[in-house]
Amino acid sequence: MKDNPIRNRARALAWNRAHPERRAEIQAKYDAKRPPRVRTPEQAARNNAAALSRYHELRHAAILAYGGRCACCSEVEYDFLQLDHVNNDGGQHREEITGCRGTSGTKYMQWLRDNGYPPILQVLCANCHLAKSSGRTCPHKR
Ligand SMILES: [Zn+2]
Ligand SMILES: [Zn+2]
Repeated sequence: MKDNPIRNRARALAWNRAHPERRAEIQAKYDAKRPPRVRTPEQAARNNAAALSRYHELRHAAILAYGGRCACCSEVEYDFLQLDHVNNDGGQHREEITGCRGTSGTKYMQWLRDNGYPPILQVLCANCHLAKSSGRTCPHKR
């Protein structure tokens, strides 16, 4: 009879449940033979640094594509600049693109680039962005 992988898996799971100590022994032997899968702190730092620099490359390109300065007060300091959804629908749009409502990550920046930086965003500095997000008129425009 041909092995049925699904039935074998069910049988293995049942056996594991019936013999938890034996199972732990087998797992321990297996783990001892296998090289650890965790990254060293150095590897993790390298990967994180690479990912962060990739993100900022894309973010910088996006900021420049959207004018490179605050649409309200003309601030040009990169570290102060943020991307603002003109219609305040950022969370919804991010969720559509990346499956996550949170802050704009690399995936979102890639999407913007690949879609020719659609005019749904503008650059605002953190101050003007905060004033706008609070639903009020920026003090610069009062
Ligand atoms: Zn501003
Ligand atoms: Zn402003």
